Amino acid sequence: MPKVVVAGSINTDVLTTMRRAPRPGETVSGETVAFGRGGKGLNQAIAAARQGVAVEFIGRVGRDAFGDQALAFFQANGVGTRGIARTAIATGTAIVMVDASAENSIVVIPAANGEVSPADLEAVTIAAGDILVSQFEIPRATIAAFFRRGRAAGGLTVLNAAPALDDAPDSLWADVDILVVNETELGHFAGVDVPGDAAEDAVAAAARRLMRRPGQTVVATLGVRGALAVTADDQVIVPGRKVKAVDTTGAGDCFVGSPAARLALGDTLPQAMRHANVAASIAVTRVGAGDAMPTADEVLALSV
Ligand code: ADP
Repeated sequence: MPKVVVAGSINTDVLTTMRRAPRPGETVSGETVAFGRGGKGLNQAIAAARQGVAVEFIGRVGRDAFGDQALAFFQANGVGTRGIARTAIATGTAIVMVDASAENSIVVIPAANGEVSPADLEAVTIAAGDILVSQFEIPRATIAAFFRRGRAAGGLTVLNAAPALDDAPDSLWADVDILVVNETELGHFAGVDVPGDAAEDAVAAAARRLMRRPGQTVVATLGVRGALAVTADDQVIVPGRKVKAVDTTGAGDCFVGSPAARLALGDTLPQAMRHANVAASIAVTRVGAGDAMPTADEVLALSV
């Protein structure tokens, strides 16, 4: 059975609430604090593992308590950790400040994630049919080496081009089989404006601009509207599900990890996208990122 291999980021999310965020030089008294598991890589690996497929992770954490907790979280979810190295630098951290009007201010410190190197890839063997997943929260050279190695071994590469970087890495994209972007990232990399109410044809046209070679698929996630995928000669549209969303953090990651799992299990792309759409619609009804990912049973119970 093919597996999913994620090379990516691991963060501790420090979630704080306060009446208002501090101005430069100021100290304010906050209200609540909670520690969550995040980082796009971790979220996507957990989303995949909870769909019942073997998952291996390549990344780095610090030799600190947050690193211990991340490793324990992976192990509790059945994610292989032989590819996770420990460094003298701290575990990646995202400090999220939410004020009384629900406005977010976020500081992300890559820390150990910035150290993930091409040599780290050696710890995990890639076989034909494996699904390789990465995102832009670890060094670009490592992602490029990961995808080159994966394609040479007969794997399928999935790049979540997030967060939107200023320099679109054209050379890397030629090694991508499936590119997943949200509306912001699509607009950024296609060099066109993709508003939230853009017609499907306009989204599809922008997505086609990102193709670099025949055989590539571009998936655009559209929030509450669902998702759309284009290939050279086809288009798949999955309408969003009506749910009561409470926290959309990690929804995009769920739409990367869960379809990767379904592709490893033998789904076609349209089947994997329908499954991902149900999974992500469950994730948005729960608080958190990695912690909010649904299980295969939860998704199948809502699938028709
Ligand atoms: P990102 O979080 O990266 O911006 P999106 O907002 O596009 O990604 O969400 C990813 C997926 O999550 C969507 O394609 C959809 O399947 C699901 N989703 C997101 N928001 C909602 C919502 N409010 N209701 C139902 N499904 C949602």
